[in-house]
Order: sequence, then C-alpha cells, then structure tokens
Amino acid sequence: MTTTDSARDLLYEAETAQLVSDASRALAFGGLSDLVWGHVSVRDRDGRGVWMKSSGLGFEEITPDHVVLVDWDGNVVVGDGPRHIEFYIHTSIYRARPDVNSVVHAHSDAVNAWCALEVPMRPLTHAGMLFAEPQLPRFTETMNLIRNAEMGVRLAEVLAENAGVLMPQHGFAMTGPDVATAVMTAVLLERAATTMLSALSAGEVKTWASDADLAEFEWVPAQLRAGYEYLVRGASTR
Ligand SMILES: [Zn+2]
Repeated sequence: MTTTDSARDLLYEAETAQLVSDASRALAFGGLSDLVWGHVSVRDRDGRGVWMKSSGLGFEEITPDHVVLVDWDGNVVVGDGPRHIEFYIHTSIYRARPDVNSVVHAHSDAVNAWCALEVPMRPLTHAGMLFAEPQLPRFTETMNLIRNAEMGVRLAEVLAENAGVLMPQHGFAMTGPDVATAVMTAVLLERAATTMLSALSAGEVKTWASDADLAEFEWVPAQLRAGYEYLVRGASTR
C-alpha cells in the first residue's frame, strides 16, 4: 500500500465516522432517541463490516470518536468502544440485501403504540404515504433484543425486499441505499405513526389519500436529502 493509499483510507474512515455521527444526531433531532438505545449504521466500503456508534451513549451525544467499525462477527476492528448487542440487525440485513448501504434501528414510542393497535398505516399525511402501500411487515417472533445471528437472519427474512420492518413492542429497522434515506424514512415513520395515534385517539379514521393520489405521490431522493440535511443542521445547533 502506498502512502497515498493509506492517507485515502484514513480520510475515508474519518469521513465515515463523521457521517455516522451526523446521522446519529439527526435521529435525535428527529425525535427517535430512547436514552442510550438504537443505532444507525453504514456499510463499510471495503466489505469489512458496519460502521456504527459504540454503545452506552445516546444519539445526541455521538461524535466521530464514538463511531466504530464492527466486523461480521461482532469484533470492533477500528475505533474504541463497546459495540451494541444488536449489531446482528445490521450485519444480517446487509448480508441479505446488497442494495442496502445504511440501516437505522430505533426504539420508538409512537411506532410501538401504533403497532399495538394492529391497524394498518393509513396515508393521512405525506409521511404516511411511504408506509401505506405496501404495509411494512411485522417481525413478531419476539419483542426481545436481536442478540444472535440466527435472530438477525430471521429478522432479515421478514424484512425481505421491503424498506423496513416493524418490531412490535421493540421498535423497527429501516433501510436505505444511503444514510439520508434510512434516517429520513425512520423519522417519517415515527411522524406517520404519531399522526395515526392522534387521529385514532380523536375518533374513527374516515378518510385518507385516495389510491390515485397514492399512486402518483413520490418521495424523491432530493426531498429526502433536503429533510436529512435539515435534521443534521438542526442537531448542530443544540
Ligand atoms: Zn433494539
């Protein structure tokens, strides 16, 4: 390896740690904190594993120094700090889905409360349009932590080719081809669930977007990127 290659690798690792740090803080600003639980990851460019925050800290506390590279067996191979028990969520999804480059796992109040009602997600808002057709699948095997490879594989099987998977009484996992998509769709899912809860608490939900509107509506990548950048800016002002 030349000196130039080595410098390029260090730059990549520094930029990736910054990316995961920004994404973690964006999730906090977007309302997805659950004390020190939940994580966002990025697939390593060289196939070594996943970049994610170390455990024991909340999303809003993360700096690049708290980001580690976890290999496919759960060993921390770059950076310092303990890895999350549930790293299997990430490694299992990346193994099953070559199209996925970022995964968010959050323990979210609104999604869990809405899941408990066992009613479909209705497109009451633009956020809800993302999750109405198709509905996200539900991983119902357990509400416990995904703490081994076998559980991770089964979670990825339920996810299949969907954008995300609900984990009732636990949270959810959302995926994307990039960080902006994974983070923004996670935040939009929480917002859509919040709107469902608000409507359901006031009475019967009688109207929502038509099938024609649903077919026409699209969250384009530029909008997801703009929303993500807003979250990153907002987090930086805290
Ligand atoms: Zn979890």
